[in-house]
Amino acid sequence: MNIFVLIKQVPDQGSKAGVNADGTIDRAKAKRMLNPFDRFALEAALSTKRRYGGIVTAITMGPPPAVEILYEAIAHGVDGAILLSDRRLAASDTLATAYALSQTVRWAGAFDLVFCGLQTTDGDTAQVGPQLAERLKVPQITYCESFEIIEGHIQASRVIEGGTQTVKSPLPAVVTVANSAERLAYKTLRGAQRVQQLQRDEEARKQVIRTVTLDDIEAVPDRCGLKGSPTIVAATEKVGEIGGSCIIYQGRSIEGLVQDALVAIPRELVQA
Ligand SMILES: Cc1cc2nc3c(=O)[nH]c(=O)nc-3n(C[C@H](O)[C@H](O)[C@H](O)COP(=O)(O)OP(=O)(O)OC[C@H]3O[C@@H](n4cnc5c(N)ncnc54)[C@H](O)[C@@H]3O)c2cc1C
Repeated sequence: MNIFVLIKQVPDQGSKAGVNADGTIDRAKAKRMLNPFDRFALEAALSTKRRYGGIVTAITMGPPPAVEILYEAIAHGVDGAILLSDRRLAASDTLATAYALSQTVRWAGAFDLVFCGLQTTDGDTAQVGPQLAERLKVPQITYCESFEIIEGHIQASRVIEGGTQTVKSPLPAVVTVANSAERLAYKTLRGAQRVQQLQRDEEARKQVIRTVTLDDIEAVPDRCGLKGSPTIVAATEKVGEIGGSCIIYQGRSIEGLVQDALVAIPRELVQA
């Protein structure tokens, strides 16, 4: 099977350094991490390979430092990676992002499955996966929790309000993976060694991590970046930090723990 997994580098929410005075993210200053939701997509892609065989390629669109998450994906066992990086992509909204990613997938070749995370922790729209499926003109399964491949079809259990739904779709398809799906395992020793080797050997790196521009993937520049983005952010508002504290009580008897907690909680709250 030819499997793609789309992963995105997002600002580390634990780092406060990357927020400008107007509330926008200073992506250059923010510490960066793999979008936590994409860890589930990565596991889905790798488990598909483990169960049914095939090749997994991780794809990301972002500035050059986004290569960090491609190394991370390689350490977890993906076979190859593609970095779509081009200044003309700056200010892309989800429409432009999905267009550019769909061109990248087309450029990369025929596929059976494209896995995406459910959403990101920065843009948070959950639009890219479904838009990508539309652009690629293939069926989409969203909120997928578990799945099997049966005779050229994917049969998936997807999370819906109050339960799960089983759906079946022909391949190829785009699947967005729920965060209740299987967790990503640890990096493998082989994967970590491969990363070290790629970091030392530029020629090998170029073979495994292909960096492409809009010209390579034959994307129309006007459909990318600011020009290709009809979304306008009218205003942003800083909500500030929500205060609070948490005390963890540990012990053997529930009654004792409740007593301890009641002593610590202000009297007026206990009465309320
Ligand atoms: C007006 C405007 C300007 C913007 N300008 C910029 C900018 O200059 N730079 C910038 O970084 N962002 C910018 N953004 C944010 C950017 O549009 C979104 O982050 C991007 O479109 C993805 O949307 P999302 O984060 O909501 O992803 P979601 O739809 O929530 O993500 C779902 C899944 O899609 C996949 N995915 C999403 N994005 C990528 C990606 N880049 N690469 C690989 N897979 C991906 C992942 O699997 C992810 O889990 C801008 C947004 C707007 C509205």
